[in-house]
Amino acid sequence: MTLSMLRYTKLPAQYPCAIKSGVTTVAPSAFIVATVLLESMQALACRSISHQHCVLSHIYSCTPLKANISRRMDYFWRRRAIDNTGLVNSLRENGTITTSRVAEVMEQIDRGLFVPAGVGDPYFDTPAPIGYNATISAPHMHAACLELLKDHLQPGMRALDIGSGSGYLTAIFALLVGETGRAVGVEHISELTEKSVENVQKCNAAHLLTSDSLSLHTGDGRKGYPDLAPYDAIHVGAAAPTIPPALIEQLKPGGRMVIPVGDVFQDLVVIDKDMQGEVKQWDYTQVRYVPLTDRQMQLEKEQ
Ligand code: SAH
Repeated sequence: MTLSMLRYTKLPAQYPCAIKSGVTTVAPSAFIVATVLLESMQALACRSISHQHCVLSHIYSCTPLKANISRRMDYFWRRRAIDNTGLVNSLRENGTITTSRVAEVMEQIDRGLFVPAGVGDPYFDTPAPIGYNATISAPHMHAACLELLKDHLQPGMRALDIGSGSGYLTAIFALLVGETGRAVGVEHISELTEKSVENVQKCNAAHLLTSDSLSLHTGDGRKGYPDLAPYDAIHVGAAAPTIPPALIEQLKPGGRMVIPVGDVFQDLVVIDKDMQGEVKQWDYTQVRYVPLTDRQMQLEKEQ
């Protein structure tokens, strides 16, 4: 029954990110469909935790459904943490965080300082709006990207965070690369850059802002930040229709970039540049990020 229901909603099984529109367009009863989808996901064992999170975030973000399904969602996979340590522990328990270094650094930067008051629980594993049609990404996505990039975020290395938004991940990068390294955030909405500086000033990476090993800039991230290139690690926090060539150029030989690529259906692409400068890429998982675009397009976007 659950499988036929999935077919009825015309959800392409390989693209669970489309579930939100499936629910809202064809559901005879949104609650029933959401319930069935949750059960179907359990039965189908979606490919990855990121996948499941992606689907459930979309179901959860359908306002009329929130009250009805939030209890079931908690039961299904995420426990509502009461603080930052609880959030990190739950990411460890569900296998998103696999290394102590990533857990420790995520514990040091309190996500609660980066989520605006009144927009939701910062310790719940879901994206949260930060204004200007942008979101602070979900903790499991930050954790997954940190796991992918951790070897390229060693003390003394250089990291570039495109679409730095709230400044949360740039602050984490800064703690990892330390005083001798350099963490650079680029955000194209100047108001968000200003707010991100305020956020970072309140967190455990504030001293790195003062010592200039952490900086947050307003600019078009599609051009990278050539002044401080090349970078050992590049993270892009918004989905690009195609990989910007400037970012490949600014990746150091031996470096790694993690970038969501696509439009409605997106892949988190990992790009490795070897010591000879040859580039190889592979898809990590399917994701759903806001687009890497220009300011006007972003602000015009329907809420
Ligand atoms: N990683 C951040 C923000 C993720 S949302 C966090 O978790 O807080 C994606 C961010 O990319 C938004 O803040 C958006 O404004 C920004 N963005 C979109 N297009 C951009 C561009 N061309 N250049 C720089 N930033 C961009």
